[in-house]
Amino acid sequence: MKTTDSGSGDVRLTGISKTYGSFTAVHPLDLTVPQGSFFALLGASGCGKTTTLRMIAGLEEPSSGTVHLGDHDVTALPPYKRPVNTVFQSYALFPHLDIFENVAFGLRRRGIKSVKKQVEDMLELVQLGEQARKKPHQLSGGQQQRVAVARALINHPKVLLLDEPLGALDLKLRRQMQLELKRIQTEVGITFVHVTHDQEEAMTMADTVAVMNGGRVEQLGSPADLYENPHTTFVANFLGTSNLIEAEVDSKAGDDIVLKAGDGKLVLPVARCSAPTANGGRVLVGVRPEKISLTHAADAGEIPEGRNRITGKIADSSFIGVSTQYVIDSSVCPEFEVYVQNVDRDTRLVPGADVVLHWSPAHTFGLDAAQD
Ligand code: ATP
Repeated sequence: MKTTDSGSGDVRLTGISKTYGSFTAVHPLDLTVPQGSFFALLGASGCGKTTTLRMIAGLEEPSSGTVHLGDHDVTALPPYKRPVNTVFQSYALFPHLDIFENVAFGLRRRGIKSVKKQVEDMLELVQLGEQARKKPHQLSGGQQQRVAVARALINHPKVLLLDEPLGALDLKLRRQMQLELKRIQTEVGITFVHVTHDQEEAMTMADTVAVMNGGRVEQLGSPADLYENPHTTFVANFLGTSNLIEAEVDSKAGDDIVLKAGDGKLVLPVARCSAPTANGGRVLVGVRPEKISLTHAADAGEIPEGRNRITGKIADSSFIGVSTQYVIDSSVCPEFEVYVQNVDRDTRLVPGADVVLHWSPAHTFGLDAAQD
């Protein structure tokens, strides 16, 4: 059920900002959300993501900049004149109306008389066809949220804005609804802009994620990009766990940088380093825990050539079902623990064991050690 013409639902923010007195909630921001994409604004509480969403909706007046929807500059338009609709965390359904009438409301308000087919189609889309005559209190939280989505989509907005829509649901329901919202977005084909503080939620649902921090977009990319190649320590740590080892640029070798870390060396592709790469520069060398393999020091001869390797001693291990998580005191970062998630269930190493940690340079990223 495609609900809009293609090419008209991209969102373009140009130099958009918001200040409250002397406080800047959103610093001047340029952002393009392509038509038909599922876009997430991700960040901790207070980073400015809701304010950004509200400026797209017209619920908040920008202090500077413009908002374009498709080719139209909508900056000066009130919310109801913009081809957007918003779903909030609180479903705000009309308790005295049944589900059918809740969804029909927007059509009736526009004076449309024959609403039956449209509402039934919309209820089918959100898989609530059987519930049409129930009242909101007779539905689960997830079902109520789907009614809210149906109600927001019934007037065929070009962009649907979602402000922490799953925040009130328990974890299991939230996971189901993440997939459900993704399915609905794919089916209707319109642009979704989704605000969340939950990195897993953003990564599950969105094609593109903008990670916000302190009123700025810190990095923009696909979930895989952000996870595999973060550009800042904030992004590296906000999207999962990351080991960060301080190292010094020693030399270049083709497309790689060679770094000194303690008495060892690490290799990092230039393309995966967001830090200055002049010799002597300090770089935080990052690697995700699940990319690291562990080998007992006595078997180190079996490790293939060309892998980054550091030595260490198992400090702690915890079995967490799918894998074992190790904390390792490493020779290259003595003040630091290195986390390894070992998926090989046959290799359990006990605390005190001397080990070699090794991983592919292709799974290594470099961050500027001088950044905040
Ligand atoms: P949350 O997830 O908690 O909603 P957020 O990332 O969506 O956080 P915003 O709601 O956009 O954050 O708020 C960004 C900053 O702007 C916060 O520090 C907030 O306190 C401030 N702020 C928001 N609205 C106002 C206002 N009307 N007056 C003053 N400050 C405000």
